[in-house]
Amino acid sequence: MIALRGVRKAFGRTVALDGLDLEVREGEFFCLLGPSGAGKTTTLKTVAGLERPDAGSVLLDGEDMAGVEPYDRGVAMCFESYALYPHRSVYDNLASPLRSPRHRLPAAEARDRIGAVAGLLGIGGLLDRPVDRLSNGQRQRVALGRVLVRPARAFLLDEPLSHLDARLRQRMRAELKAIGAVRRTTTLYVTHDAVEALALGDRVGVIRDGRIVQTGTREDVWHRPCDTEVARAFGRPRINLLPAAVTETGVRTDGGADLPVRAEAPAGTEVLVGVRPRDLTLHGEGHRLTGTVYVTEVLGRSVEVTVRLGGQRVSLVAPRADAARLRPDDPVGLSVRPENLLLFEADRPGRPGRRIGKSAR
Ligand code: ATP
Repeated sequence: MIALRGVRKAFGRTVALDGLDLEVREGEFFCLLGPSGAGKTTTLKTVAGLERPDAGSVLLDGEDMAGVEPYDRGVAMCFESYALYPHRSVYDNLASPLRSPRHRLPAAEARDRIGAVAGLLGIGGLLDRPVDRLSNGQRQRVALGRVLVRPARAFLLDEPLSHLDARLRQRMRAELKAIGAVRRTTTLYVTHDAVEALALGDRVGVIRDGRIVQTGTREDVWHRPCDTEVARAFGRPRINLLPAAVTETGVRTDGGADLPVRAEAPAGTEVLVGVRPRDLTLHGEGHRLTGTVYVTEVLGRSVEVTVRLGGQRVSLVAPRADAARLRPDDPVGLSVRPENLLLFEADRPGRPGRRIGKSAR
C-alpha cells in the first residue's frame, strides 16, 4: 500500500505538490494521469525518497517513510529518462539489480527471471546486444525490465511506454497488464495519456496543479467526471460541452433544444451540457438538435462528423454507412442518447466548471 497524505513540495516559487492526497491499495495498478507539469514525476520521486516533502507524509504498507533512505524503501522505480549501462549487454543490465546484496538471487533463478521478463517485453532476442546499439524503444523496454525483474513491494513507473510506436505501445500495455495480474505488485504508473490510463488502471487518479482532483475506476471518471476538464481529458473526439440554461424540466441549449438533464441548480442558471460524440446519432428519430455539416473525417469503420449548431461545433461518431454521403453544409438532425448526458457549471477563467447533474433517466 502506498499513501501520500497532504504532501507539499515546492522548488523555489514553483509549487509542484500542493497538499497531495493519494492512496494506492495493496496489489493495485493505479494510474496517475495529468498534463505536463502537474506534479506526476515529483509524486513518484517523493514516494521513492528521491525528493523530500516540505510537509505531509508518505507511507508504505502503513510505515511512515520520513527519514528512510531510497534504497531501504523497497520500491523499484523506472524513470522516463532511463539510466542504463550503455556498453553492457541487455542481459547484464537486467541482471544488475539482482546482484545488489539486497536482491541477490541464486544464478539459475536470476536467469529464469530475466528470461521471463525479457520474453514478456519482447527483448528476449537482444540479451547479448550492448545497450548503446539499441533503438530508443528497445532501451525503454530494457529500463522497464530492470524494474520488473527485481522483487519489490511497489513499482513506480514514469511513462514507461512513451518512446514506443503505437502498435508496440498497445501490445506492451496488454503485456504489462498481464505482468501485473501475475505479479500482483502494487504499481503506481504515471502517464499523460488518458487511453493508457483507462486501459491499464484498476483505478485512475487525475492530478492537476499538484493536487488530485478525482480518483476512481474508469467508469467513475468516464461517467461521473468531477468537472469539465476531467470530462475533456477522457475520450477522443472530445466530449461536446454545449452552453445551456436550466429550466423547470431540464435544460435548454443556446440553440433552443430541450434536454432531459436533472440539474442541481435553480432555473435560469447558465450551464454546460456534456454529450459524448458517441451519444449523438445522425437523423435519429425525434431528433432535438438541427445543424449543418461542417466537416467529416473517416476513422476506419466510422466517421467523425463535425456539425455546426448555431455558433457551436459539435462532434459525433457515426457508422460509415450513415455518414459517407454527407457533404459540407448538408442539413442534419441529431438525436441525443439521453442516458449519458452530463451537466456542469459554466467554466470560469482558471476554474473548470464542476459537475452538477446527470441525465434525468
Ligand atoms: P511531465 O509530464 O512534463 O514530466 P510532471 O507532471 O511529471 O510533468 P513534475 O516533473 O512533477 O511534473 O513537475 C511539477 C512542477 O515542478 C513543474 O512546474 C516543474 O517545472 C517543477 N519542478 C520539478 N522538479 C523540479 C526541480 N528539480 N527544480 C525546479 N522545479 C522543478
